[in-house]
Amino acid sequence: MDGRALAERIRAEVANEVSGLDRAPGLATVLVGDDAASDIYIRNKHKAAREAGIDALDHRLPQDASEEDVLGLVQELNDKDEIDAVLVQLPLPKGIDENKVIRAVEPVKDVDGFHPFNAGQLYLGEPTHVPATPLGILALLDEYDVDLDGASAVVIGRSQIVGKPVAHLLLQRNATVTLCHSRTRDLADRARGADVLVVATGRAGLVGAEDVKEGATVVDVGINRTETGIVGDVDAAAAERAGLVTPVPGGVGPMTIAMLLSSTVRAARYRRGELAYPLE
Ligand code: NAD
Repeated sequence: MDGRALAERIRAEVANEVSGLDRAPGLATVLVGDDAASDIYIRNKHKAAREAGIDALDHRLPQDASEEDVLGLVQELNDKDEIDAVLVQLPLPKGIDENKVIRAVEPVKDVDGFHPFNAGQLYLGEPTHVPATPLGILALLDEYDVDLDGASAVVIGRSQIVGKPVAHLLLQRNATVTLCHSRTRDLADRARGADVLVVATGRAGLVGAEDVKEGATVVDVGINRTETGIVGDVDAAAAERAGLVTPVPGGVGPMTIAMLLSSTVRAARYRRGELAYPLE
């Protein structure tokens, strides 16, 4: 499943949608500290946003910024009318309560979908803002016409950013979902029962070819830096047994940024009253 090709198409669609809005949507990012990986993620997001015609504003606070500084900046961005979307890059430096910061973002602007209101809407089966990676996974499965209705879907990894939300999206599409994690017994047996297997653990090679059912659809979310380069959580040999598989890199990764842009336009539409946001 070619994430690059689909992401490119979605980004072009977003650019087209943006050109039809009364003004460019505003996306503000907040980066606290000097984490090198976060810096790269933020730069990539900004580049993609600009290419789509989104106004991206890069806010930075020093590593020793206090919780009050971060909460103050978030409040400022909540209050600015020209800002439609607020994204606080995680992880935050030690000593800053991430939950508190996540709760401080105005829900309608929370394009990451981490605020309890948006997470709750997903739980209720009435999704509003949903984290970008799970949205990208569903978009890929749809692009390749993967039948989810009644399918056995196994998700490995239960993070707030990937595992849990993707499990909910799959459930909403009538898959029978098993959510596995580091304490799951008989992980391999469960994986082997999957028509659709989503792996998001950050453990290179966790899923081997023998753990994949013949013809299954495999979504590899993992990004692991190894001596041989970047690899996923699924062994390369699994591709031969799988019917469809996402490559790493070039699968889920590019989709995440494309869906963030799409969510930013969604936030802009919520705020213009073109889409109903259930909290208004
Ligand atoms: P996380 O560390 O928050 O969660 C990892 C999950 O994997 C946990 O729920 C844990 O229980 C489970 N796990 C760990 N070891 C396991 C084992 N041996 N067996 C079964 N389950 C196990 O990670 P995350 O933020 O969800 O990210 C997971 C991976 O996906 C990472 O490699 C990350 O870099 C990648 N990721 C990629 C994208 C993308 O855009 N492609 C986005 C987010 C995360």
